[in-house]
Amino acid sequence: MSEATATQQKRPRSASLDCDVVVVGAGFAGLYAIHKLTTLGFHVQAFEKGKGVGGVWYWNRYPGARCDCESYYYSYSFSPELQQAWDWSLRYSEQPEILSYLEHVAQRFDLERLIRFETAVVGAAYDDVSSAWRVTTSDGAVTMTRFLVTAAGCLSEVHWPDIPGLQSFEGRLLHTAQWPHEEVDLSGRRVGIIGTGASAVQAIPRIARQAANLTVFQRTPNWVLPARNAPASSEFTAWYKANYPQIRQRCLDSGGGVPFDPPLGAAFDVSDDERQAVYERLWAQGGMRFFTAFTDLFMSEASNETAQAFVRAHILATVRDPQTAHKLVPTDHPIGVKRPPLDDDYYETFNRENVTLVDVRTDRIEQIEPTGVRAGEAFHALDDLVMATGFDALTGAILAMDIRGRSGAKLSEKWREGPQTYMGLGVAGFPNLFTITGPLSPSVLANMPTAVEQHADWIADCLVHMRSAGLTSIEPTETAEREWTAHSDEVVSATLYPRATSSWYQGANIPGKPRRFGVYVGGFSAYRERCEAIAANGYEGFRFTAPANA
Ligand SMILES: Cc1cc2nc3c(=O)[nH]c(=O)nc-3n(C[C@H](O)[C@H](O)[C@H](O)COP(=O)(O)OP(=O)(O)OC[C@H]3O[C@@H](n4cnc5c(N)ncnc54)[C@H](O)[C@@H]3O)c2cc1C
Repeated sequence: MSEATATQQKRPRSASLDCDVVVVGAGFAGLYAIHKLTTLGFHVQAFEKGKGVGGVWYWNRYPGARCDCESYYYSYSFSPELQQAWDWSLRYSEQPEILSYLEHVAQRFDLERLIRFETAVVGAAYDDVSSAWRVTTSDGAVTMTRFLVTAAGCLSEVHWPDIPGLQSFEGRLLHTAQWPHEEVDLSGRRVGIIGTGASAVQAIPRIARQAANLTVFQRTPNWVLPARNAPASSEFTAWYKANYPQIRQRCLDSGGGVPFDPPLGAAFDVSDDERQAVYERLWAQGGMRFFTAFTDLFMSEASNETAQAFVRAHILATVRDPQTAHKLVPTDHPIGVKRPPLDDDYYETFNRENVTLVDVRTDRIEQIEPTGVRAGEAFHALDDLVMATGFDALTGAILAMDIRGRSGAKLSEKWREGPQTYMGLGVAGFPNLFTITGPLSPSVLANMPTAVEQHADWIADCLVHMRSAGLTSIEPTETAEREWTAHSDEVVSATLYPRATSSWYQGANIPGKPRRFGVYVGGFSAYRERCEAIAANGYEGFRFTAPANA
């Protein structure tokens, strides 16, 4: 009998509960939470909307879909055996490989038996008397649980924009985040794509190589950096396998959950030539390392402008048609303050004869018609229309569930002005609810597998503490939540992030969504230390209750 099973059998569950923990979602976060909690002897029931595990990597199957954190650290660290068993074929692996990895994890740790697939959690109501959640699912079933852990994803609630006539389109209508599972053949087709965020930047070069022609409808150009993707050589694989403990520790100790060397000084500490050389070196290396150039890139307009100038020059030198090149240069936000897309052929793709760029700020999309898109004065005839319009990010998947806390209070009401949380882990008035990579945690500004493991470990330790102390409920105090939310707002307001007024980081891509910067920008390692200090100080800022007869 395994250690976990023995613990489980020793501890009878409350008769009125179906399980100890309900986990919502089976992506990176849900899978690890299920594994961690069952290993500690908790009885877990997970629900997943999709037919299989994988989360983002189950849903986003568009051409070119891949990670933009390098695979050797965009992966789990919790099992040394898993790390040694798995080889990544590319520096940045593509969706099919990441999905196979997560399927392998689910099989290896026997997790699927605890997941009910094709079942969405639609509501959860906290019962003050029994200190338990009543979870309702799309199949009409009710599950009673002590704890509710959302692992529903920061980028999983798909956004379909409300464009007049969208539903009248008679060709194939696709969304990058709901891409069909069967092969979509775009060869010889007239394809349109709406959106130029991270998914579009990956998809556009691939679609352009297949389609007869591709029309790109762009509202906001992004600063695109080269990924420099390449096969992972056997030497590289041997190197990361031999160095995993140090690599993972560097991720934990870094601001972004990544094993990069931190910047050494500010942009104007060095001469113009030296600064140019730093940018060239990092540009040649590829990826997010570019942002490790200088300490003040996210704080100083002038420093950031030096990085913008470097990338601007690259865009203008790469794209041959000057009008198209100018349309591709961002003018409304500093570099790095919106999710920076990575690709290798993005700007070059606009030199192809079969690619047209439409700037919808000047040529507004007036109407989608059965056979194409009318933008400004022009009509673009299309066979296929791809929406690369992203997500209702950070809060969307949580609020898609009707979550009600103490006395029936609605979470959607509480977050009417924007999310308020304590550490992105819990919400006052919603006892026994934990949100993995929840709003106001570093979430999408950290390498997410690192962030996910840190959160799930913290939650698991907390539940073990409660079990041994005989405690039945936990929730943040109003004061702790107010202070954390204010701290998160204050930290971001000292940076250039709020300058990206169209960014999904602050909810600006969804009409009517309240604006609050939903990610903690104070750095992953500082955040992690704070979480550890909270636990070490008896879960400071949280309030526990024990059963009345305890
Ligand atoms: C194309 C793409 C590339 C990305 N690349 C990177 C990268 O390189 N580095 C990085 O750090 N991050 C990246 N991300 C961010 C990504 O969100 C995380 O890396 C990671 O997938 C988060 O895992 P998760 O389990 O938290 O969420 P998800 O993977 O989104 O999984 C959440 C799951 O919950 C399910 N779910 C949601 N609501 C419900 C409900 N009510 N009931 C039942 N099930 C529900 C969803 O169906 C989904 O399967 C990328 C995102 C996208 C879209």
